[in-house]
Amino acid sequence: MCLFGSTYMNTRTAPDIWEAALGELQLQVSKPNYRTWLEKTAGLNYQDNLLVVSVPNTFVAEYLDRSQRSLIEKTLIGILGSTDVRVAFQVNGHYPTANGVNNGKFLPTPPNRPGLNPGYVFESFVVGDTNRIAYEAAREVAANPGRSFNPLFIYGGVGLGKTHLLHAVGHATLSRNMQVACVSAEQFTNDFVSSVRERRMEEFRTRYRKLDVLLIDDISFLSGKEQTEECFFHTFNELHNAARQIVITSNQPPKAMLLTEERLRSRLEWGLVVDVKMPDLPTRLAILQAKVRQKGADVSVDVLELLAEQAKHNIRELEGSLNRIIAYAKLLRASPTREMAELALDSISAKEPASIEAGAPTLLLQAVAETFRLTIDDLKGPRRDREAALARRVAMYLLRRETGISVTQIGEEMGGRDVSAVTHACKKLASELETNNFLKRKIEDIGKRLNSPRGPSL
Ligand code: ADP
Ligand code: MG
Repeated sequence: MCLFGSTYMNTRTAPDIWEAALGELQLQVSKPNYRTWLEKTAGLNYQDNLLVVSVPNTFVAEYLDRSQRSLIEKTLIGILGSTDVRVAFQVNGHYPTANGVNNGKFLPTPPNRPGLNPGYVFESFVVGDTNRIAYEAAREVAANPGRSFNPLFIYGGVGLGKTHLLHAVGHATLSRNMQVACVSAEQFTNDFVSSVRERRMEEFRTRYRKLDVLLIDDISFLSGKEQTEECFFHTFNELHNAARQIVITSNQPPKAMLLTEERLRSRLEWGLVVDVKMPDLPTRLAILQAKVRQKGADVSVDVLELLAEQAKHNIRELEGSLNRIIAYAKLLRASPTREMAELALDSISAKEPASIEAGAPTLLLQAVAETFRLTIDDLKGPRRDREAALARRVAMYLLRRETGISVTQIGEEMGGRDVSAVTHACKKLASELETNNFLKRKIEDIGKRLNSPRGPSL
């Protein structure tokens, strides 16, 4: 987890680890690639299996994050001999603001805050009709933590700026020297489970109790994990009673979440529940213009318009297409054109199946079936043996977590199972996940299959 305050950094080994990784990576990627993307990087911090690597700019960060992460993590696993190593890229140096307020002038770099994306600040968030309330609410809690909306609960689909707003609250409150922790619900779960296992619950409690602001990303991960939910419930109460601010993001509103603790649902609804939706066309264009300024790139408005019109699902996708055309233009040493934009958009539509669109459930089922070496019919049909039953539970759990479709729809997708069977399966799987590393790895494998450019092999 990333707790901020005075005592979290261990900088001793990160440079050495990264140097060793660079040595390996040099052999695995082409020379120009190495020079462009890896040469000016450095190991910053290594803690809790997370290696933070400093990179010169957001362009490099985004490229490494999207295209080289799995190679880098594989290399690190080889070097560290551990199966669970993650890497994060942190821009080191100046970064520009985005929304035009500062006319593209450079802002001072915020201090190194592992776990908080340095670019996710209020100043770089473009406000439109579909995210204004969430933005204003986040600003309000950042200005008056614990005194206005508590908790602030922000929900919405993938890539719509929830994490951006969450981190912005983190930056703003940290700047006022508050004790802030930003953790994903998954990190919270892991932290809780290892604290129980290692009999460090008292330390766990103290760590959370002393916070002024607790930021929890993607709370849906807690769904149905009985013990973790209960622990979160108590943590929540302690902080809330002491008027400490809690901000939560989720892909669903509290009322749609699958929770074991009904008491927790009512707590989540106590403060303010707000949503973020896909921005309209003018806002999408404004976001693109802001990102272009941030990157110091030069892209004409008609190219940006084409991107903004086509990218309909989420802003991450919008940014991805922009990054691609900037990269194409660099490679071709030309200004980005509409043709390049069309090419960049083509590669999005090739990847699109992984988004929550029609067809996503089938792709997810396909990925689960392949990972368990079964067929989709085995998942949907009556097979009752342990393996099929487990794969079926995983499928239902992931349909619920990743696509946000209702339990009734999941029942229908799964060959006409009733709602209580789906609910029971999701809860059971969630609690199995608390202790079963094999299952966690299987779920990671499924994620990789879904995110591979080809998608699962059909
Ligand atoms: P979520 O957490 O909702 O899945 P993120 O917060 O990670 O989405 O946002 C995805 C990307 O889109 C990030 O790079 C973020 O900076 C960008 N983004 C989202 N909304 C906005 C916005 N309104 N203005 C500028 N950038 C945005
Ligand atoms: Mg997010």
